[in-house]
Amino acid sequence: MFTHQISIQVKQGVDLAEAVSQFTSLIGSYYQNGQVLHKQLNTYGEDGLITYVAETQEEDSLNAKYNNELIKMRIGLLEEHCGNKLEIKLLGKSHEEVAVCNCNQRDFYLLIADHSSVDSPVKCGACFDVIPLYKLPPHNESGYYEILAWEQNYKGVDTLQINGHAGEEWATEQISNPNSELSIQGRAVCSAIEQNTSVKTYYYLHNGKETTVEEELDAVCPACKTPWLLSQPLAGGIFPFKCDNCRLVSTFSSNIKG
Ligand SMILES: [Zn+2]
Ligand SMILES: [Zn+2]
Repeated sequence: MFTHQISIQVKQGVDLAEAVSQFTSLIGSYYQNGQVLHKQLNTYGEDGLITYVAETQEEDSLNAKYNNELIKMRIGLLEEHCGNKLEIKLLGKSHEEVAVCNCNQRDFYLLIADHSSVDSPVKCGACFDVIPLYKLPPHNESGYYEILAWEQNYKGVDTLQINGHAGEEWATEQISNPNSELSIQGRAVCSAIEQNTSVKTYYYLHNGKETTVEEELDAVCPACKTPWLLSQPLAGGIFPFKCDNCRLVSTFSSNIKG
C-alpha cells in the first residue's frame, strides 16, 4: 500500500469553511470509489492549505484515469471555489504489504474481510491477491457503496467476536451462518459483483464450530447440505470447503477437538 498527500491551497478571501466541506466531500467520493482506503476524514490545514493523508492500494490509485464522473465534478467545483489546482503527492510506500492481483484470467472472486481489514474485500480466486475496487465495474454512480457498507458491517461484527464480552455469540452466528443478516447482505454483494463482471463470486463463511477431524472431513455445505470438501484446497490450503451451488467457501474449524 502507498501513502499520498492530497491538498489544495485556498486563495485569500475565499470561504474556507465551504472549501473544507467540498474537500471532505471529494475525499468521501475517493473512498466510495475504492481509491482511498480509510473512511475517517482527518483533514488538517494551516494558512489556507487543506490537507489529507491518504492510504491507497496502489501507487497510481489516485491517477485521474480511475476518477468517476462524481469525482471529476467535485474536483472541478473545488478548484473553481479555491482558485487553485488540487495537488496529489506520493509520500511513500506503506510498511504493510498487500499484493495486488495481476492475473489476466480470474477463475472466480472471493468476498472476505476481518476486524482489521482496510484493503479491498474482493480477492482474486486464481492468486488470492487483492482486486482494487476501482478495477471492477462500479455498482452505481458513486462507486462501490454496497461493497464498502458490507465491509464496514463485517469489521464491526468481527470485532465483537474477537473482543468477546459483548455480543460474541450473536457475532459468531452472524459470520458463520449463511443465512444471517450479515451473510445475506454479503451474498447479495457477491451476486451483484457476479452480475456486473460475469465472474463467479464466492462468500467466505467463518468456521469456529466445536468439531472433530472426522466430522470436518464429512462436513456439508451449511446452506444446501451437500458435501463440500475439495480434493484440492484453495489458496495454498486455506480454504478446503467450497460450494458451487451456494457460492460459499470456508476453512477448517479453528475449534477441532481430539
Ligand atoms: Zn489474481
Ligand atoms: Zn451449498
